[in-house]
This record gives sequence, structure tokens and C-alpha cells, in this order.
Amino acid sequence: MSVPKIWLSSPHMGGKEKEFVKEAFDTNWIAPVGPHISGFENDLRAFTGVKHCSVLGSGSAAIHIGLRLLGVKAGDAVMCQSFTFVATANSILLQGAEPVFIDSELDTWNMCPAKLEEAIVALKNKGRRIGAIVPVHLYGMPSNVGAITEIAQRYDIPVFEDAAESLGSHIGGKHCGTFGRAAALSFNGNKIITTSGGGAIISDDEELIRQARFLATQARDDAPHYEHTQQGYNYRMSNVVAGIGRGQMLVLPDRVQARRANHDWYFRKLGETWLDAIAENGRVQIRNSSPTGVYFLKEPEGYFSNRWLTTIVVIPEESGGITRESLRLALEAENIEARPLWKPMHMQPLFDRNAYFGSGVSDWLFENGLCLPSGSNLTIEEFARIEAVLDEVFHFRMS
Ligand SMILES: *Cc1c(COP(=O)(O)O)cnc(C)c1O
Repeated sequence: MSVPKIWLSSPHMGGKEKEFVKEAFDTNWIAPVGPHISGFENDLRAFTGVKHCSVLGSGSAAIHIGLRLLGVKAGDAVMCQSFTFVATANSILLQGAEPVFIDSELDTWNMCPAKLEEAIVALKNKGRRIGAIVPVHLYGMPSNVGAITEIAQRYDIPVFEDAAESLGSHIGGKHCGTFGRAAALSFNGNKIITTSGGGAIISDDEELIRQARFLATQARDDAPHYEHTQQGYNYRMSNVVAGIGRGQMLVLPDRVQARRANHDWYFRKLGETWLDAIAENGRVQIRNSSPTGVYFLKEPEGYFSNRWLTTIVVIPEESGGITRESLRLALEAENIEARPLWKPMHMQPLFDRNAYFGSGVSDWLFENGLCLPSGSNLTIEEFARIEAVLDEVFHFRMS
């Protein structure tokens, strides 16, 4: 293919990252300790308003350590959003616990509070211990954490937020990752900011973050020799990588703005229709209509999404037969990457024996949903190429 690839979401450096990395080299802090680590942690605390933070090697490591520190034990059930990336559920498996999958609601596409409570009641009736609840703020949209934390308190179960995709998102100014006991952030290569790979655990609980650092450093006790009383991990972030993070923090507000502008552009282009739907008897019913058959997820009142990825659902009955897959293939033919929404965990062969509480929402989102190219570094020329495909596919439906 002669035209260059347009990626779904590619790294976007701000310019200062190299200076921070050079500083790490010049001072020989080429180690999992050093001044960029605390510098990056301070930047993240200042941005999110959380009190404590430990940067780690990955978001997955942050979820694993977080669940352990919340007291999740082998054999526990952990309430996990089904509609997510597999890392959420794999981290539960690492702790020896059993993910119990909860469907999404249509208002946020994240964990459905009603299904969560149904699952808690069903498991409690069987005498199961529930170790934690893990909601995800998928694609940057905050989950319904108000309702979820209320249920969690009522049943005395800790909440760990997977905020890997939602740095910059908030509800009424309170940032994703600050609603539960602790949360995970990710700086993987495709996220809204990246350190090439990395993550963080954040919490207002000072002791929890102190313990996270301890476990991430092979649980080395305080002694001149190597003394260990607990199992630990090597989950630390390198000072070099943290330097990239410090550079990225300088441009994070710009990145949020650019991703939201992408979403606006697609919204205007594809018929300006918010999804208005309900789930009934395991089926999703749309209550409004769209001139293109394309629907977008509206931010509920007070919600602010970083719009990490622009997501749509395409309804073939209304689009003149266009499906999310035919649209994806038309983009792919022009070397433009688009991707189906996450395939829910309860549909994955890996989890075919796990319990699931659902109403057909995440199945429907996977079947009809697509992520469109959403990088903060998309150029005018790239948008023109995307637009040409959209015009070609939807031509008879757009003014
Ligand atoms: C990226 C991601 C993770 C894992 O983060 P890594 O840094 O890649 O380990 C976890 N959950 C969700 C929802 C993610 O998108």
C-alpha cells in the first residue's frame, strides 16, 4: 500500500520529553529510581487532585497490586466490568480470584449498577466472599461511580477503578480514579499520553501507596541485607520512562482538547445523533433515529470524557445496510485503522466458565460498535482521507 497508515491512536510527543530523558542520561539516573519518578508522580497528583501516587511498569501491574492491597484473596469473586480490555480481568486472575462479569448500562457503556447489585445479592446468597468491584471508565467516559460506590458501601466491598483510558476525564471536576479506594492509570503506547509503556496506582490512602511501592520493589524489608517476609514483584517504572511522562504531562490538557475536537468532528460529519436507547428482555431498543444510522454516546449531565477514542454504533437497518464491519473494511482498504469496540469478557473463550450478569448491552455494543481513528496528532490531510471514505460510504445520506 503506497499511502501511509492512519493509526487508531498513536503516540504524540510534545517536544520536551527528550530533554527530560537526556537529563536522566546526563545524571546517570538510568534506574527504576531517580528524580523523574517523583517528578512524574507529583505531576499526576497535581493534575488529578489525588493525594498519593506510585508510578509502575504498567497499568496491569497497578490493577494487580491494587487488588491485593484492597484485600482480594485467592478464591474471592471480583465484580468486573465485562466490556473492557482483557488486562482488567487478567489482573484479577493473577491474584487467584475469579472475575464475575457485569454488563454495561446504555448511559455510560460502563458497569451497570443494577446488574452489579443483582450479582452481589446472588453471590452473597451462595455464601461467596466478594473481594472488590472493578468499574472501568472505558474510552474515557466516566462510569456511574456515584451509584456504584453507593452499592459498594452498602455491601461493604472496596472499589478499585480501572482508569487506564480516562486520564483527563471527570465528573463535576472530580477526576476518574479518585472515587474508589484506589485506581490504575496506564501510559501504554496508545493511551491519551504515553511513556511507551507504564502505569500508576493512585489513592488518597497514604499507607496503601506506601505498600504499593513496597510490593513493586520485591517487598524488600528495611534491612542492610535483602530481607523478605512477603511475596513481591518487580513492577517499578524506570526513571528514563518517567522522564517521558513528565514531558507528556506538559501537553496533557492539549491532548484532551484534541481528542474531544476529533469527537466533535465525527459527530458533525456523521449525522449529529446521540444514542437514546433502552435494554429490554436482553435486547437493545433505540428510541430515536439517525439520518446516517450512526449514533454517538452523549456525556451524562456533569460528565466530562477525555474522548480518548471516538466510538460509534452503526445500525444497518437505518444506514442503508452499512455495518460497522463494512465501514471498518472500507477504511482498511485505504490503510486507515478502525477497530470494533472491545469484545466483552463474557464472550471470550478464556472466560467461558465465568459467571455473567447481563442484559445484552455489551454484546450489542460489540456487534455494532466501532472505534474511529482518534489520535491527537491526526493531520488535516489525514482527516481529508478519512472524510473521503466516510463520504464514499455514506454519500447518499449526508447533506
Ligand atoms: C490499557 C488498559 C489497561 C492496561 O494497561 P497497560 O499499561 O497496557 O498494562 C487496563 N485496562 C484498560 C481498560 C486498558 O485500556
